[in-house]
Amino acid sequence: MKIAYWILAASFTLLSCGEGHNDGMKDYGIIPMPNGIVPEQGKYILQGEKTVAVSSEELSMKVFQYFENALKNTSVTLKRVSLTEQADISFLINDTLPDEAYTLEVSSHNIKISSNASAAGLFYGVQSLLQLMPSEIYDTQQKYESNIEIPAVNITDAPRFPYRGAMMDVGRNFLPKEEVLKFLDLMAMYKLNKFHFHLTDDQGWRIEIKKYPKLTEIGSHRKQTQVGHCDYYYPRRFDGKEKEGYYTQDEIREIVKYASDRFITVIPEIEMPGHASAALASYPELSCGLGKTYVVRDYFDVFDEVYCPKEGTFDFLEGVLTEVIDLFPSHYIHIGGDECPKKAWKKCDHCQALMKREGLKDEESLQSWFIHRIEQFVNSKGRDIIGWDEILEGGLAPNATVMSWRGEEGGIEAARQKHKVIMTPGDKCYIDHYQESPEFAPLAIGGFLPLDSVYTYNPLPVELTPEEQAYIIGTQANVWGEYIQTPEYFEYMAFPRLLAMSEVQWTQPENKNLSSFVRRLDGEFKRLDYCGVNACRNFYEVNLTGAWNDSRHVYEVTLKTFCPDTEIYYTINDSVVSSSSNLYKAPVSLSEDATVYAAVYRDGKPLGRITHKGFAMNKATGNPYECVPPPVAEKVNEGIGLTDGIPGYTRDLRRWVIFRGDTVRITVDLGKAVPVNRVAFAFLWRPFDTLWPASKLSVSVSTDSKTFTSVGSKEYSYDFTPTEATRFPVSYSFPEVTARYICLELLNGGLCPEGYYHAGQQSRLAIDEIEFY
Ligand SMILES: [Zn+2]
Repeated sequence: MKIAYWILAASFTLLSCGEGHNDGMKDYGIIPMPNGIVPEQGKYILQGEKTVAVSSEELSMKVFQYFENALKNTSVTLKRVSLTEQADISFLINDTLPDEAYTLEVSSHNIKISSNASAAGLFYGVQSLLQLMPSEIYDTQQKYESNIEIPAVNITDAPRFPYRGAMMDVGRNFLPKEEVLKFLDLMAMYKLNKFHFHLTDDQGWRIEIKKYPKLTEIGSHRKQTQVGHCDYYYPRRFDGKEKEGYYTQDEIREIVKYASDRFITVIPEIEMPGHASAALASYPELSCGLGKTYVVRDYFDVFDEVYCPKEGTFDFLEGVLTEVIDLFPSHYIHIGGDECPKKAWKKCDHCQALMKREGLKDEESLQSWFIHRIEQFVNSKGRDIIGWDEILEGGLAPNATVMSWRGEEGGIEAARQKHKVIMTPGDKCYIDHYQESPEFAPLAIGGFLPLDSVYTYNPLPVELTPEEQAYIIGTQANVWGEYIQTPEYFEYMAFPRLLAMSEVQWTQPENKNLSSFVRRLDGEFKRLDYCGVNACRNFYEVNLTGAWNDSRHVYEVTLKTFCPDTEIYYTINDSVVSSSSNLYKAPVSLSEDATVYAAVYRDGKPLGRITHKGFAMNKATGNPYECVPPPVAEKVNEGIGLTDGIPGYTRDLRRWVIFRGDTVRITVDLGKAVPVNRVAFAFLWRPFDTLWPASKLSVSVSTDSKTFTSVGSKEYSYDFTPTEATRFPVSYSFPEVTARYICLELLNGGLCPEGYYHAGQQSRLAIDEIEFY
């Protein structure tokens, strides 16, 4: 194949040098970026025995013990002296500082950290101090014997938000206590202070409740787990391996204490009224009945079986919450409230009678009534509830805090109603989504949330007034666990994106700077390595995108890496990339089908894997098109979906353009009349998503976009039984015509057939990529 490409005259530099206003702080390498930092001359040498002046108050002592432990792999020993004595390092109390704020002064003579008596600021000052030290002090394999040199600096710092959270979902897949503790350690390093522990779900109940032993005897086991993606295989595949796990109350106490020693509050989540399969499998009498057998679920979906709002259920939930409240000192108790189908309640005599008695107009109001009642109980114990944004439906409980996950709308609405809000919109905060091209990534739930999209998130919506914005107490990264079966994979999804989130949570927007962040992160990977964290390495790889450049009339492939101070080398249709390949300076133009391979280098050495992407060039590429009806989903990130030069593949639904309706007409404007004799495109078959191929294709052409002439049509009947998501390529030839406008009319494939998901529902079409030859 002949390849035509050239490098555009380079009149701009490839990588910005990161000359942000806070770039002068790059040498300090602190994540999250402190809000006030003044470089000073000189350095402090930490070696041998040092005195630390610290108050004997419990909170200050906690910080001292943490600090002492953090230096255990070094030759430094710390001797505690009273606050009145002169010391090498002083932990001072200054009650004029707000909660969690601190000052850190490092000079060549001594080190002083100050905070108010809550000592959280002391703890964060210690974290910043530790980040000023070489990351080798974290190397557990080898003792750090050298002097520890700490650059002189004055830091005045305080967090942007009081709520800085991360969620771990152990309901779907249990993770061992050791991984929970390790994660708490890592959260603490980046100054997060709320650990949202998602303890119950359809696939498992993970906390011992003494009053209801069957919750763990039955609810913490499942017989197997689906293989692969929830909507990928038909029928579902299973691994046949039993899975189980829960935390005893002693282990929970240990986790809570460990977190508290790191100034982290553990917020437990007990899901209700939905996501209750594991509880209902243990105690079926809590359901609406309806003759069902309840099981701990072995695949991932939203299930119709939910708690029935009867007195026995409330007795049960109050019994569970009483033990939970005793175990967790957290002011907040998360009660879920999301994804609760109303099917069972609609059929249940008790539920219908209850609605009548309470004057509830629909099942949404019944859910609201349910949450109100639970809130009253939790409030009676001196605590407040958090719920997912569905708790807005049917009316918010009076003191509820809303966790906004289906975008920011729920959070905006709750703030306007003067309720506290934690922003966790899926497209910015769900770090179980893909962070790199799904073509290379290990299986994730879907979506696409790269490092920079997390970093640039601002949790205060501009729609809100400053008074309303004040109700947004913070933001949180969520690591849902459907596809996360091991600690290693949990870490892969959480890191390094959690570090980007820490800066969203801590650093004032005027102090955030992506190029400064990636520079600091580049150094921080070393510390993550010493801490044994299996972080994703996409940071050191090339991400390839392609798009039609309208002003230059060429198709351009752009190569980017997050890693600063590097070179990108690339090849075309050659999988061997080296430092003698093409050096990337500007977007690469393509005029024919090609696969581009690329890798990141520094000082002549590769830093990460070779990545690649295929691009399809044809007469349609880059041309505009119109769809009637418009697509229901066109979730591409770059280019224009149907003609963007990037063919859709089965694993990534975002690449496909999805249509509903009996007939779809797609008219592509080729810009000028050209000879055409063939059209090619593909359908995606994914029955879980109601995606089925079309039943008929008709092609017509026009030179003026008004009068169309048919050039042929073809009916399709699919005699197939695929067992996994399948891409169906279609190629249709016709006698050559000259045309500017080409219209493809597609007849919908009809109802989803019996024996498949969603049988009897109207199917939808998913199409990509339209090609003309
Ligand atoms: Zn019921």
